[in-house]
Amino acid sequence: MVVKCKRCGVNNAEIYLAHSNLRLCPDCFMLLTERKVKHAVETYKMISKDDNIGIAVSGGKDSSSLAYILSKSFEKIPITLIHIDLGIPNYSQHCLEKVKELSKIIDRELVVYSLEKELGFKIPDFKATIYGKKMCSACGAIKRYLFNKITYDLGLTKIATGHNLDDTVEALFNSYVEGNVGALVRLRPFLPKTHPKMMPKIKPLIGLTDMECLIYAEYRNLPIRSLGCQFSESSRTIRRKRLLNLLAENMPNFKHTFISSHFRRLLPCLETALKDHETKIYECPNCGMPTSLEGVPCHFCKIVSIVLEKKDKHASEAG
Ligand SMILES: [Zn+2]
Ligand SMILES: [Zn+2]
Repeated sequence: MVVKCKRCGVNNAEIYLAHSNLRLCPDCFMLLTERKVKHAVETYKMISKDDNIGIAVSGGKDSSSLAYILSKSFEKIPITLIHIDLGIPNYSQHCLEKVKELSKIIDRELVVYSLEKELGFKIPDFKATIYGKKMCSACGAIKRYLFNKITYDLGLTKIATGHNLDDTVEALFNSYVEGNVGALVRLRPFLPKTHPKMMPKIKPLIGLTDMECLIYAEYRNLPIRSLGCQFSESSRTIRRKRLLNLLAENMPNFKHTFISSHFRRLLPCLETALKDHETKIYECPNCGMPTSLEGVPCHFCKIVSIVLEKKDKHASEAG
């Protein structure tokens, strides 16, 4: 039996959104997806008219959809795509091709930062270090630091990332489990500036699920990577997401309820409780960027020095 789209009633429905029990045609789905992003941007006042936005793009479904929707919905806002070449064999070349294609399609400038050229190491070099078993956490720390620094160095006003609803639910869930109150308070749809070199961060996809981002990218025919990162296969993040998807199978609006309860009800209480406990921000003696550590190199400088030291040792042993 052919089901018609719940919104237009004309086209055949091809997409089913379990959390809102909606069957939609591709056109209505894309329109509603773009509206959800605009709604999040407006609700959290993420973008103002004199902004100059940097978008962190990886070649994945989320950041590609984000770049496409923002550049379509906010035509007059200057947007620069920022991509970090991680130096992972095959995967990184593949991702780079996809972001180059994306930049052409949406006609926005692309800045590529190569770890190997700029810093002298690649992500696989972490395998031989103490980060060998937590590659994703080292890689994540490097990307977070660099996206902030590149945005700052380019003189942009904000950095937008493709974190979606599933990513946010997973991160919040993890912080609840660990009792990491600091992380719970820092995770926001819009994190304003807390230091002159700490760029404001926005997450316009916070209302979209993994599945919605994927379907959107596919129906829009956006260039997205088909390879997965060889190091992330068994990461804890992916395992936790699987667990949360099991909950959502039995309770379709679980993730949406969880997130809205957190931001509307719990976060204001946490903020009030913590208002006298603001963490101090210092500058790293090595790179000058903001850090919560006083008088010692920041986390980024520390992990970079560890990976470079190991590389030097290997090189001297080999030669
Ligand atoms: Zn329709
Ligand atoms: Zn530093």
